[in-house]
Amino acid sequence: MSEEGPKQSKKEKPVSSYYKIEEGKVERLLPTCERCGPGYFMADHGDRYSCGHCGFTRYKIENPQDN
Ligand SMILES: [Zn+2]
Repeated sequence: MSEEGPKQSKKEKPVSSYYKIEEGKVERLLPTCERCGPGYFMADHGDRYSCGHCGFTRYKIENPQDN
């Protein structure tokens, strides 16, 4: 019978290579401004996002009946 045990290597791998950023904590990502480009995040105003840089407003809910 073979003895069961945790297979642990003597060589320690660098943990930094497998570093995970905040596991389990989901950060809400704000959308970026379409005008200003990536890097300019839009502020959350409840039902819409607004860019504080150019003033561009983007609504969260898109109306399917918007015609
Ligand atoms: Zn903008």
